[in-house]
Amino acid sequence: MKEGIHPEYPAAAVSCACGNSFVTRSTRGDFQVDVCGACHPFYTGTQKLIDAAGRVDKFRKRYAGNAAKDAAKAAAATEAAAAAAELKA
Ligand SMILES: [Zn+2]
Repeated sequence: MKEGIHPEYPAAAVSCACGNSFVTRSTRGDFQVDVCGACHPFYTGTQKLIDAAGRVDKFRKRYAGNAAKDAAKAAAATEAAAAAAELKA
């Protein structure tokens, strides 16, 4: 190794939000991660919702009104179709 050009590369303890921790090497020292190999759905094979900022709730809140309106519209259309069928018969 050439002297004087390589950064410090010491052992670093990485801790995950799931509680798992492991040691690797890093130039930035110890740090935390949100997902690791022990809890990432790709490795666990289980579906897990990672919703850090409540985005799913925000989405559901925003479009809950629209869904109700659409359902009401669909019901009205069905009623109208039934009435038309009755008139024909
Ligand atoms: Zn983890």
